[in-house]
Amino acid sequence: MASRPARPRHIADPAGGRADRAYPYWRQQRMRCIALILAACAASANAADCGPDKLGTERTIILKREGAQYGAQQHTALPLKKGEVVLTFDDGPSAENTPLVLKALADQCARATFFMLGQGLRKDPELARETVREGHSAGIHSDTHPHMAALTPAQQLDDLAQSRAAYKATFGAETPAYRFPYLEETPTLLDALKRDNITVASIDMGINDWIPEDTNEVLAGRLTASLDKTGGGIILMHDANGPTAKAMPTLLKVLKDKGYKIVHLEWEAAK
Ligand SMILES: [Zn+2]
Repeated sequence: MASRPARPRHIADPAGGRADRAYPYWRQQRMRCIALILAACAASANAADCGPDKLGTERTIILKREGAQYGAQQHTALPLKKGEVVLTFDDGPSAENTPLVLKALADQCARATFFMLGQGLRKDPELARETVREGHSAGIHSDTHPHMAALTPAQQLDDLAQSRAAYKATFGAETPAYRFPYLEETPTLLDALKRDNITVASIDMGINDWIPEDTNEVLAGRLTASLDKTGGGIILMHDANGPTAKAMPTLLKVLKDKGYKIVHLEWEAAK
């Protein structure tokens, strides 16, 4: 698996801003050298992984755990500039297809958010953890992908509880975010998510990537049409879908060629 894209590093002033008085000159110089070497390492990692020919990740937004609801198809738009997109992938982890998506993202230093199914987390927790180790963020997308509105409130809450337990067993933390299967929201689950400070992650655009016969060109055409219509936002794709996984290099090239910038979503740590 390709190495994780370098995160921005904060190199603290080794003398806490008081080097002139606290340390002799030779020691100041030595610390300055170490700091420069660290800075050079960080820069070279960035340069190696994310040169100008790569799509890269422009910036990261860290959302609070406050149960907000985002995605202009159903809620408030994220605070994005025109030409910025957030990559999101649903229905994984998939042993067959997710690794292809991870490789394509790593090749372009692009970070994404994966909304995973509880049943997939129980089946392949290591792939889920690998996804996060590579710098991506993870939320849940129900336990078994039911049509929630067809279930009783108790069944909906049970599905949510199962998927949250699977997430916690996999990552050792509560999920920060939830995406409804089929984007079919219910009052019962909206209330539960709000109460527990879990972000509802809807979308701004999709590429309807669920047809087995879709080719790279077809998916690229749909992505282009969605981008032309919306000008950016949260993109829904499916890492569990074979044609999507195969098309990822092409889809990322579409974004790069059209000048779109990747914004990565993270959430503050659970209290
Ligand atoms: Zn789904």
